[in-house]
Amino acid sequence: MTKPLLDRHLFGPGPSNAYPEATTALGYPLLGHLDPAFIERLDATCEGLRQVWGTNNSRTLPLSATGSAGMEAAFVNTVGPGDVAVIAVNGLFGERMCDVAQRCGADVVRVDHEWGQPIDPERVANAHPNPKVIAAVHAETSTGVLSDIKTLGKLKGDALLIVDAVTSIGGIELLADEWGIDVGYAGTQKCLGVAPGLAPFTISDHAFDRRIEKPQSWYLDLGMLGGYVGSATGGGRTYHHTAPVAMIASLEAALQRILTEGLDNVAARHWAAGTALQNGLEEQGHKLFAAEGHRLPELTSVVVPEGVDSAAVRSYLLEHFNIEIGAGAGKYAQSVWRIGLMGPNANPASVALLLNALPEAIAKA
Ligand code: PLP
Repeated sequence: MTKPLLDRHLFGPGPSNAYPEATTALGYPLLGHLDPAFIERLDATCEGLRQVWGTNNSRTLPLSATGSAGMEAAFVNTVGPGDVAVIAVNGLFGERMCDVAQRCGADVVRVDHEWGQPIDPERVANAHPNPKVIAAVHAETSTGVLSDIKTLGKLKGDALLIVDAVTSIGGIELLADEWGIDVGYAGTQKCLGVAPGLAPFTISDHAFDRRIEKPQSWYLDLGMLGGYVGSATGGGRTYHHTAPVAMIASLEAALQRILTEGLDNVAARHWAAGTALQNGLEEQGHKLFAAEGHRLPELTSVVVPEGVDSAAVRSYLLEHFNIEIGAGAGKYAQSVWRIGLMGPNANPASVALLLNALPEAIAKA
């Protein structure tokens, strides 16, 4: 007999519990990927994605792969050998961007920041006189830091602005067109409250016109993917790959739920939960890791108290409360915890549960 999955409260930076609507939709009868009924669902999903991205870009679609493939698609389609890519690094995912851009042959200009601090838009924009792209992470999941993409967009000049919105989309304000984002990628498993597996992606016409004509990746070639999403991109719809129909049904259901609640309400719910958690942790004497004023509500990073065994506390929470919190990333693996309140978990009950459980775990672990 198959072992049932535990009903865990996932507070970690990994896949959070999905919205119930999204989980139910995973069990819908499967449509064929060329069935006109599926094509309608795909169109509706792309439209929902435009709304959560805050964009009118016709080329807005769920890439059939995780957020990291969104990152690959962003770079592989925009930079090739010799192109200058200015990349803001204030955590693990900015680091990963550098790696990806280097593999595309780009001349990478890294702009390093201390982990836990937001990016400095002026320093990033002034790092090179004429880059082809400037890239930054909106919500650094590795540190719990929110960066100011709006200001970076104002300062980007002729460069194309690539933004990682994996942990911000569907949770906090994201206005791709207003902020000047040319290429954006995200993931489904964070505030969108869907299982991991798709990368919501958007690219402006201007960036599409300046793309690499024949990128070295066939699968992530946006020229071909334009045909996959079809009429919205002005071309006929052509077969590109077998779309993950169940995941797209799940994403559509989550988008409907989020848009019915209203983007402002969803953001307010994330801010209320995150602020309550952060205040509660400070009241318990904890030190938060991310710089004050730049803390993400959906991902709280906490300094592990002196003498406390980080892993033992995490195991205790998992065993005794079915709560999963994340370890820190990189050199902070042992010294920071990361507590997610994403999508359905951004609510007062989750905050209360964690604030009650953590002191016991620290005392007994
Ligand atoms: N960028 C950020 C900010 C992330 O948090 C993550 C995953 O946690 C990724 C990129 C990579 O996404 P995925 O794990 O879905 O490939």
